Amino acid sequence: LEKVPSDIEIAMAQTPKPIAELAHELGLHPDEVELYGKYKAKVELSVLKRLEHRKNGKYIIISGITPTPLGEGKSTTTIGLAQALGAHLGRPAFACVRQPSQGPTFGIKGGAAGGGYSQVIPMDEFNLHLTGDIHAVTAANNLLAAALDARMFHEATQSDKMPVQALYSRLVPTQKGKREFAPLMIKRLQKLGINKTDPNELTPEEINRFARLDVDPDTITWNRVLDTNDRFLRKITIGQAPTEKGHERVTGFDIAVASECMAVLALTTSLADMRERLGNMVVATSKRGEPITADDLGVGGALAVLMKDAIKPNLMQTLEGTPVFVHAGPFANIAHGNSSILADRVALKLAGTEEGDSPDRVGYVLTEGGFGADMGMEKFCNIKCRVSGLTPDATVIVATTRALKMHGGGPDVTPGKPLAETYTKEDLVTLREGCKNLAKHIENSRKFGVKVIVAINQFASDTEAELQLVREQALAAGADAAVVSNHWAEGGAGARALAEAVIAVCESPSNFSFLYDLNLPIEKKIEIISKEIYGADGIELSEQAQKQIKTYTSQGYGNLPICMAKTQYSFSHDPKLKGVPTGFTIPIRSVRLSAGAGFLYPLLGDMQTMPGLGTRPGFWEVGLDPDTGKVVGLF
Ligand code: ADP
Repeated sequence: LEKVPSDIEIAMAQTPKPIAELAHELGLHPDEVELYGKYKAKVELSVLKRLEHRKNGKYIIISGITPTPLGEGKSTTTIGLAQALGAHLGRPAFACVRQPSQGPTFGIKGGAAGGGYSQVIPMDEFNLHLTGDIHAVTAANNLLAAALDARMFHEATQSDKMPVQALYSRLVPTQKGKREFAPLMIKRLQKLGINKTDPNELTPEEINRFARLDVDPDTITWNRVLDTNDRFLRKITIGQAPTEKGHERVTGFDIAVASECMAVLALTTSLADMRERLGNMVVATSKRGEPITADDLGVGGALAVLMKDAIKPNLMQTLEGTPVFVHAGPFANIAHGNSSILADRVALKLAGTEEGDSPDRVGYVLTEGGFGADMGMEKFCNIKCRVSGLTPDATVIVATTRALKMHGGGPDVTPGKPLAETYTKEDLVTLREGCKNLAKHIENSRKFGVKVIVAINQFASDTEAELQLVREQALAAGADAAVVSNHWAEGGAGARALAEAVIAVCESPSNFSFLYDLNLPIEKKIEIISKEIYGADGIELSEQAQKQIKTYTSQGYGNLPICMAKTQYSFSHDPKLKGVPTGFTIPIRSVRLSAGAGFLYPLLGDMQTMPGLGTRPGFWEVGLDPDTGKVVGLF
């Protein structure tokens, strides 16, 4: 193989086509496309209605083996495969990926635009602010946090007349000169079991109960967020200025992409649905034991306003000019790790067929589930597909010989030091052992009844015997196909064989099913994922987790799916255990509720929801070329 230039050099050398031109090629009408500069556009959701009659294209979830610091190339493979299907095999093909968070971009991982000759461009815009969706999520999340603390402060410091004032100031005048409840007030009254329609009929006790939320500060689960790896914000004390009169509180920041507002953006199905979900987000429990929602705080409408543009998927392109939707960005370890349902739906319609179309017209939507198949793919199946009602036709599991060797006992990498020989020379023994990790992911995917294609992302140092071994092991573990792909060095042309395998496997139907029944008790659902997907012996709930499970069950949230917050580096909760660990019990530290997004969120082991910066952060490289103004050093 010839030397391939750096990701950013390749990306900058290609001039993208105007995004309006791409939108036109896809059959989007000009009024469905909102341009954000020359190379990015938002697509209006009205396109879903216009194309309602179309049969969806094929739906493929791209996943991977357990990640290692060597990088597996999932994003690169998603883009390479989209290029092969779209630019080389002439099929409509869409990649649906997440917007990268600035945490990893400036921290450890660099960008997420793919790599080599398989990238999304312009890669600097993709990796940085894009169209501001993460900023909108941050604004919404923090408005809710501010609303909660301000409300607690006012309830604690204002006079006894406050409840009456709070009630009457929010009534709406009628034409007859009277005042009546606003719709949201009725929702809250019903929640409190007060079924009255005339404000004058409320007793003083009912007015008090309506107007005072009486938040129990010990139950607050809503953190502020920021899209920066800022570990010093993990635990902070707020309210220390004298103006807050001693109402101090210990709280913390999470990374923005772990916000429930981000999960809502990724899982919502329409503007009305987003409004409803944002209003239903629970931030705490009252002293009377009721869940307190964003709508109880009167802020649900404002949150929806802040996110009204973020809900529209962002259209960009690959190096070979094929379409990419970039939308929502939840991490797959501390969140549900999938791009948005809406982007997938728009893509599936644009890739879809009308009556009378030839079968060759059917297109492909490749949607990426973050980290290993035990994380992004499990959550794709058990959470995202339940909400969307969509089911995948196949999954592609990405593996590299290098990462498999690390699972087979290869040494850790030390930054700045050359790679150990096992990663650069043929080593069939270590590789064979490491293939067990791939086999377990294949087995897991088959538990969902999904067809499996293994994509072996080729590195220059791979030998033919090594590639053959991975192919054999993958097929022996039950994969429907296993194909070597060289899209990093060759672009879409290098992924042609992979694309042909995807088309062939998708010819026959999948037999999709969920892993667990939503009506099972919360702890049982956590246990099923832990045993079936992670291979654990069982789970161990902390006292706090048990208490939270009891509260959420009694509040009526027991039938939600589960979004595990677990390290991505191991099937277990211990990042050091590579390969296929056995004989471990998973500690559940606590369980959070995401009532608006619609899942319960157990925290495993010592999982952090705000990452930190290491000793060698990615931002050291990043800068501007003073002559051209171009970004350098992103990778
Ligand atoms: P993931 O999505 O699994 O985190 P990426 O697709 O973002 O991985 O790739 C991580 C890095 O590895 C990128 O910088 C990319 O250029 C590089 N990379 C991916 N595939 C290859 C390959 N086959 N050969 C060399 N480098 C690669």
